[in-house]
Amino acid sequence: MKTIGLVGGMSWESTLEYYRIINERTKEKLGGFHSAKIVLYSVDFGEVESWQHQGKWKALTDLMIDAARRVERAGADLLAICTNTMHKMADDVQQSIRIPLLHIVDATAAEIKGRSIRKVGLLGTRFTMEQDFYKQRLSRDDGPEVIIPDERERELIHGILYNELCLGEIKDASKDVFQRIIAGLVSRGAQGIVLGCTEIPLLVNQKDYDIPLFDTTTIHACAAVDMALI
Ligand code: GLU
Repeated sequence: MKTIGLVGGMSWESTLEYYRIINERTKEKLGGFHSAKIVLYSVDFGEVESWQHQGKWKALTDLMIDAARRVERAGADLLAICTNTMHKMADDVQQSIRIPLLHIVDATAAEIKGRSIRKVGLLGTRFTMEQDFYKQRLSRDDGPEVIIPDERERELIHGILYNELCLGEIKDASKDVFQRIIAGLVSRGAQGIVLGCTEIPLLVNQKDYDIPLFDTTTIHACAAVDMALI
């Protein structure tokens, strides 16, 4: 089994999920006492969050490259960045290391493929929903059309992500907000919803929905295990 490298801490609430899911998947695949070989470098999210909101993307790219190199030096055979938003600089990170980076959008696109879904709704941080890096990659190679909530709804989601979920707060009222926004996307033709922020699955659960939800945390974590076991 290869060693999985993780750049986490964005936020640590969702990195915990990666750690749990990766080990559960490994146990499922290998049985017995088997668990995953993991190298984790966890950043200070206080620094990341403030730079994101100040638009300091160059500094953030340098930080992510430094984190990825530390993980590589520590012996990882592959790398997963445990956040959707910070895939904005995934190409720069890949060019700075020798080990393969498992891109969260590619893992998610592979999951959507073959399900005859032509339009998906994307939920995530404002950066993920509004900038092109995520949507373009998801819809390329005959992928689905990607639609996003309206401006006011995007603001609401962004607020819930940073002011609640990334701080470990799970509120029923916010669950209702997501439910309303997802219903709106479905009424606009979405046949599936991409939970494009690794904290959203802490609040939103497939069992409450009839349409498929693509939980990027689980998809990415499982894909990392599958890659480690090849
Ligand atoms: N974990 C989140 C994501 O998947 C947001 C935190 C961050 O900005 O990295 O986008």
